Amino acid sequence: MEKLEKLKKERNAIILAHNYQRPEIQDIADFVGDSLALAMKAKQTDADVIVFCGVDFMAESAKIINPDKIVLFPDEKAKCPMAAMVDAESLIKLKEKYDYDIVSYINTSAAVKAVSDICCTSANAVKVVQSMPGGVIFVPDENLGNYVMRFVKDKEIILWPGFCPTHMGISLKDIMKLKEEHPEAEILAHPECTPDVIDIADKVASTEGMVRYAMESESREFIVATERELCYRMKKEMPDKEFYPVKNAVCPTMKTITLEKVIKSLEEMKPQIKLSEEIMEKAKKPLEKMLEMGRG
Ligand code: SF4
Repeated sequence: MEKLEKLKKERNAIILAHNYQRPEIQDIADFVGDSLALAMKAKQTDADVIVFCGVDFMAESAKIINPDKIVLFPDEKAKCPMAAMVDAESLIKLKEKYDYDIVSYINTSAAVKAVSDICCTSANAVKVVQSMPGGVIFVPDENLGNYVMRFVKDKEIILWPGFCPTHMGISLKDIMKLKEEHPEAEILAHPECTPDVIDIADKVASTEGMVRYAMESESREFIVATERELCYRMKKEMPDKEFYPVKNAVCPTMKTITLEKVIKSLEEMKPQIKLSEEIMEKAKKPLEKMLEMGRG
């Protein structure tokens, strides 16, 4: 770890890690959070180098917010499959058909953000859609879009058929089995989960929202219906409480970044996120608007 600390100092680097990263990555990170918290942190930092431990769209967002900083992405293969389900060209065609504002989940490529009116995360999706003046095209997560529609009844929302394979794999049956084993546990669910899971949840929230809820709740046990590594952070911050992950709730993409890759990226100062000036400029506007909205 001495080597890592030395490199960080030499490069004036900060390590940002998503809540779904491996425990050893969470342990060495300067900051661990959800997409919104990480984007906010990326905006505030005065470090020269950001080592981003997450997936492609998150590291791209950090670069878009900080065009003058170096953003290292320790494994370029860490690509979110949901973000790959929507492309800018198809989205432009849909916009021509409906002429509605495009609200894109932060889980999208920089090119998709560049043709969007505003971005959102699971922490503020309802608030962002509510703030739009008219109809909305919401991409790419259909489950999150359906969740938003439970609260926003006064506008037409066109959904895109995208999904997160990890959250789609979290089944009601597996949750109910855990509930039988731990009847006192509260069920926390991420809005990327299917509607049947949302229906039975005690609390639906982003990962950061789940952490806060568990801290404030008087319950001592929680079934956590999102990627299982969030339980590592929760247990670390709340050692007197119990957190039960759901079977198979693993995002393989989030696990590609390892400690060795983080060190190597700082040694070699690569791979770096590189985006065209034009895309960065266009994508910055919807991202900045999202940051202005804050949490929901
Ligand atoms: S958990 Fe789902 S949305 Fe998040 S990075 Fe993995 S595949 Fe993408």
